[in-house]
Amino acid sequence: MLSETARKSKEIIQQNKTPIRIMEVCGTHTHEIFRLGIRNLLPESVRLISGPGCPVCVTPENYIDEALFLAIEKKCIIGTFGDLVRIPGSGMSLEKARAQGAEIAVLYTPLDAVTLAEKNSDREIVFLSVGFETTTPAHCLSVLHAKKKNLKNFSILTANKIMDNVYETLKDSTDVFLYPGHVSVITGTGIYDNLKEKNISGVVAGFTAEEILNAIATAIIKFKEGRPFSENAYTSVVKREGNPAAKKIIADTMEICTSTWRGLGEIKDSGLELKDSFAEFDARKKFYIPEIPYKKNPACRCGEILQGKISPVECPCFGTVCTPRNPVGACMVSSEGTCSAFYKYGALTK
Ligand code: SF4
Repeated sequence: MLSETARKSKEIIQQNKTPIRIMEVCGTHTHEIFRLGIRNLLPESVRLISGPGCPVCVTPENYIDEALFLAIEKKCIIGTFGDLVRIPGSGMSLEKARAQGAEIAVLYTPLDAVTLAEKNSDREIVFLSVGFETTTPAHCLSVLHAKKKNLKNFSILTANKIMDNVYETLKDSTDVFLYPGHVSVITGTGIYDNLKEKNISGVVAGFTAEEILNAIATAIIKFKEGRPFSENAYTSVVKREGNPAAKKIIADTMEICTSTWRGLGEIKDSGLELKDSFAEFDARKKFYIPEIPYKKNPACRCGEILQGKISPVECPCFGTVCTPRNPVGACMVSSEGTCSAFYKYGALTK
């Protein structure tokens, strides 16, 4: 049953006549919006678009190729979270490499990789460091722990991402962003005020039905005023300053770099890599990984989906050759992926 606040938000949304595109850039939002049936409540004037908010989905093919190089050529033990194992590289996935003898350990936290290194002192352990600001502090902590323990057989392969410049890349795909609640807990809302100065509007959203409906209603009300805006509809958790301790851990350990995004290509200042003072824990530097060109699968349209240009149901592979059991692209593999959400909840329309 909806609360009074949620009912009012629903009314604002359903009475809206002004066409508006709203892009949620968080995979959890995509899934919660489906699970809670919010898409079914929307009038034709409100179009929800799913953006690139799933870290696994935006990890490019050549990153998986780098991990395969370390596992197969350098005989490293690769430590990773489960979803990444099934993501296709330009040739195969880590799962397929494991079937051929590569050692891939599925872990629950980055610190598990440090423990793995302590227990296997005769082997090199490489942790696949993939994520946004929400998980990056824990990756940095694993490096700090390894340094403190003077471990010589632990390193990370970074593909950590930050969203700030990606909003600019995607600004023509939407009128308003639903900013990700979890990431905003760490970053704070200051970055969204900066985006407002660049004519980019958005609302920070939480994850309950009431919070999501409130964020969409706020987006509609503010959009109709005709001026750029930055609103926080998740004030119970997200503060302007974010989480200073987590931000400090990142700033002490990593620095901003150009990063490649699956489907979007290279985006300036959209990634994080280890600082030179932590070079001994940087797998790229430690193992001299050769440059592996970025090649994408022409059959998969994840790139257009991640940019909000098409919906999964417009991909000819969707639900036929590409299913969660046999995924062709990353958006169908990850539990937070857009194609996976459309498939799971039986969405047959945009
Ligand atoms: Fe790629 Fe499959 Fe999604 Fe099509 S349905 S875009 S092939 S992940």
